[in-house]
Amino acid sequence: MEEIHQGQISDTLARHADSLNDISQKIWREPELYFQEKFAHNLLTDFLERNGFTVVRGYKNIATAFRAEFQSPNYDRLLHPTIAVLCEYDALPEIGHACGHNLIAEAGIATGLALRDVLTSHADTAQAVDGKLVILGTPAEEQGGGKVILINEGAFLDIDFAMMVHPFVRNDLEPVILGIEACRVEFRGKAAHAACGPWEAVNALDAAVSLYQNVALFR
Ligand SMILES: [Zn+2]
Repeated sequence: MEEIHQGQISDTLARHADSLNDISQKIWREPELYFQEKFAHNLLTDFLERNGFTVVRGYKNIATAFRAEFQSPNYDRLLHPTIAVLCEYDALPEIGHACGHNLIAEAGIATGLALRDVLTSHADTAQAVDGKLVILGTPAEEQGGGKVILINEGAFLDIDFAMMVHPFVRNDLEPVILGIEACRVEFRGKAAHAACGPWEAVNALDAAVSLYQNVALFR
């Protein structure tokens, strides 16, 4: 992204810092459990609509899910990406927003505002950025598997990639991603007896290459 866009993003975030913080604080003070996030849903969708997004409330028959869209003036579905930024906003029983989902919601709508300005302000110039931005409200993350339901309902079918942030006590650039399974594989070779030919040996690298190629084909 060019410097001109980075400056614009900082400007937009600074301009809206107070109202973004206000929304986050309101959600924090009004914790709602999974599938009951009416207050947060209304607050976020009203805000996005006021800021130029086309909003669907109660998306995919989930009362507290939403989808808000914004696209560049020259957006072409076949040429330009569709990117989703996810907002979570449910809380935990008794300890409220201990997981900080109010901050996920704030970061999601902040990204929405910043990219909205990038998508519009340089249209028809060499710095134009084209694409469609979808702010997706995904409820029921502490319990209820909100995103699983949304995936099964086809909410991500037109999305090229989706992003979100989750607050943590420190920066974590390599988080454990729940959608992958990590495993450790050891390859051991075996030397040949002096009496045998070298072809009797077992080459660990052969096994590693073979695993690599088979996993690649399996995909
Ligand atoms: Zn969480």
